[in-house]
Parts: sequence; C-alpha cells; structure tokens
Amino acid sequence: MMALSQMSREQLEQEKAQLEKRYHAFQSRGLKLDMSRGKPGNDQLDLSNGMLEVLTADDYKAENGLDCRNYGNSDGLPEMRKIFADLLEIDPDEVIVGGNSSLTMMFDNIASNMTHGVRDGKPWGRQGEVKFLCPVPGYDRHFAICEYFHIKMINVPLHSDGPDMDMVERLVSSDPLIKGIWCVPKYSNPDGVVYSDETVRRFAHLKPAADDFRIYWDNAYMIHHLGEEPAKILNLLTECEKAGNPNMPLIFTSFSKVSFSGAAVAAMAASKSNIDYIKKRLTVQAIGPDKLNQLRHVRFFKDANGVRAHMKKHAAILRPKFAAVLDKLDEELTPYSVATWEKPTGGYFVSVNVAEGTAKRVVQLCKEAGVVLTGAGATYPYGKDPLDRNIRLAPTYPPLEEVKEAIELFCICTKLAAVEKMLES
Ligand code: PMP
Repeated sequence: MMALSQMSREQLEQEKAQLEKRYHAFQSRGLKLDMSRGKPGNDQLDLSNGMLEVLTADDYKAENGLDCRNYGNSDGLPEMRKIFADLLEIDPDEVIVGGNSSLTMMFDNIASNMTHGVRDGKPWGRQGEVKFLCPVPGYDRHFAICEYFHIKMINVPLHSDGPDMDMVERLVSSDPLIKGIWCVPKYSNPDGVVYSDETVRRFAHLKPAADDFRIYWDNAYMIHHLGEEPAKILNLLTECEKAGNPNMPLIFTSFSKVSFSGAAVAAMAASKSNIDYIKKRLTVQAIGPDKLNQLRHVRFFKDANGVRAHMKKHAAILRPKFAAVLDKLDEELTPYSVATWEKPTGGYFVSVNVAEGTAKRVVQLCKEAGVVLTGAGATYPYGKDPLDRNIRLAPTYPPLEEVKEAIELFCICTKLAAVEKMLES
C-alpha cells in the first residue's frame, strides 16, 4: 500500500473501485449503528445499579443529622462535597454540589453574568459584543451555550499540550470584551488532550484586560482514565491563588459518566469568596438540591477512593473499544497517510482529522451505510470547521462488535472521500 498522494490517476481509479465494492457490501447489510454521542454503554450503567437499592426506608440522614427528605442545604451534602473536594484536590468550602448536570451549572453561571454581571459588576449583556475564546476542536454544547447568549466565539488552536497560549495571552490581555474561555483540561472533548503544567501555569498568570474575565475549566473527565497511568494536571485553583488571580477560575465536573448519565451529581468549585457569591443566587433558585440522590451516591461510593475503584471498572469496559478504534485506524489509514488522530489515554472520544475538505462527505457516506457519526463541524463554534476535516468518534455506547463494524466503515469512507477528492482535482 502507498500514500494516496503518491498514486497515479490510474491507481486512484483502481483504489476507488475497490473501496466502492467494500462500501456497497457494507451498505447491503442494512446496519443501524450510532457512534455520535459520548454516552456510556448499558454495561457501564449496570455498574451502578446497586445505587438504586442502597438506601432503605430508615436511612435518609446525612452525617450531620440533616434529613435528606426535606428542604435545605443549597450547596449539597457535606459528605458529597468532601468526595468532590478530594477528587479535585481542593477544600470542601470551595465546592458547591448541584443537581444532575454540570452543563446546567455552566449555563447558569453565564446566564447570571449576562444579566447580573460577575460579582455585581456591569452585566456582560450590557457591555456590547462580549466574546469567549474557544479552543478547537472542542465541545459542541459549550459552543451552543455561547450561541444561545449571542456571545461571539473566537477559535484558538488546541495543541497536544493545551490551547495556543501565546494567542490566549495576547487576546485576553488586549480585549476587554473577551470574558471567558472554555477549557476541558484533562482528556479533552474531542481530542483527549491533557494540558501541560506550563499551560496551567500560564492560565493562572493571565492578565486579562477585563476584570470580569473567567476561565471555564470543565474537568468533566478528571477521573476517566483508560491507561494504567492516570494523567495528572496541575490544580488551577491553587495556581491561580499563587498567581494573585484567585477568583479567575470556575471549575466544573460531574458524575454523569461515573454513575448514571441522566441521574448523577454535578459540582462546581471556585475560590471561597466566589462560592459565597454564587450561593446567594442558589438560595433564590431553589430551597435545596436533590439530597437523596446525593446520599445514594455517598452510600454507594463511600469516598473518593470508592469512586476511583469504580472508574477502573469503567476503564476495563472501555479499553477494548478504544483499542478496536485505534488499531483499525492504524491498520487502514496509516499506510495511506490520509488522516491524523490523537491516541487518547482517557475521556470519551477519538478525534480524527480526515483529508481536508472531506469531513462532511465522510459523515454522509457513513450515514448512507447505516452508521451515524457526530455531524462534521460540530467540534467547532457555529458548526463551522474551516478546513472541513475534523470528525469526533464516540465509541463508548455501542457494544464492541458494533464499534468494530462502525470503525471499519469509517475507514473505508475516509479513504473513499479522499480518493474522490483527489480525482476531482
Ligand atoms: N462537559 C464535557 C466536556 C462533556 O463532554 C460533557 C458530556 N458529554 C459534559 C460536560 C456534560 O456534563 P453533565 O452531564 O454533567 O451536564
């Protein structure tokens, strides 16, 4: 096999014919597979079924005597805060435990800043065209929040050690309308990138032109390791304190991919003074979160080590799926030099850059043969991938056998789209 770029027109025609044969064979099988969203598989959800039985009719009190059936404790159960604090390596006073979704907490924080300003400052919504920096490729739902609030998004390239910090520093220090940046610092969605210590330190030392600038540090995959050696990142909160920027970071995480995606517990962490400010809003919004669900989580996991042990069971289920994807990509695409991808050591995705100008075509070809992928462009603000080349693969939900079929089809489509493009030019 040779790189596509080295092939003569005749060789490309031959290659195309062979790929089409394989493609049509797939099409005739009438597959119906979905690799579009980063959902846990049913076997992963089963790991937490014990949680449904862990509470009994006489077990509804938290360790401080609080009756979890009743109203109260807007920032969550102390023991649940402690579990999150231990995992995030911060103080329980710096944590608020919320409802089931961290995305809701991010959305709410931005909504609050739009209408009420950061800590009673001038509302973002009355400052003109406010902007967010968006490391790309990134998470489509972050971008959707910005679009919803008409916050202008600016792409910043994401490298293998984090966002392009030269660009971040330059923009943040020069434009007072830049109010935030989205970061997924560990096993990023979709590349699986882990931010280096230097990147985290540079974040902590930012000198924003806006005094109401915030770093949205979405640590959704903080404990979602696939390999034997868990990746470690520096603690942004501590680094920001040391750098004299204690109130700049807002950290988010959740158990959506630890327990049940639809019924987990989410948390937010920040400086004590930010937390006190945010709590004031919480007490207006609700008379307390679902404490019984928090208690279920506490009983089931017991402590941070219980959570870590549970994550090893997830990893055992996910490892073969990621290996199937990475091995097939390597086998089918490497010899053709037709795509590049990161090899994630954690998280939920494999992100592939196919030949420029072909991502949409690859997704369409896959769809027409029965495999749904995340839409091309979804990993970029406004759904616009300037090079039309990034595709996010989400191998966690389908069973292993289906992942194997889907990835083979993906490889065929990637090559076919590249060959088509070369023959066009
Ligand atoms: N952040 C990132 C980076 C994610 O990938 C996801 C889930 N796909 C979420 C947040 C959603 O989190 P939650 O379920 O806690 O709202």
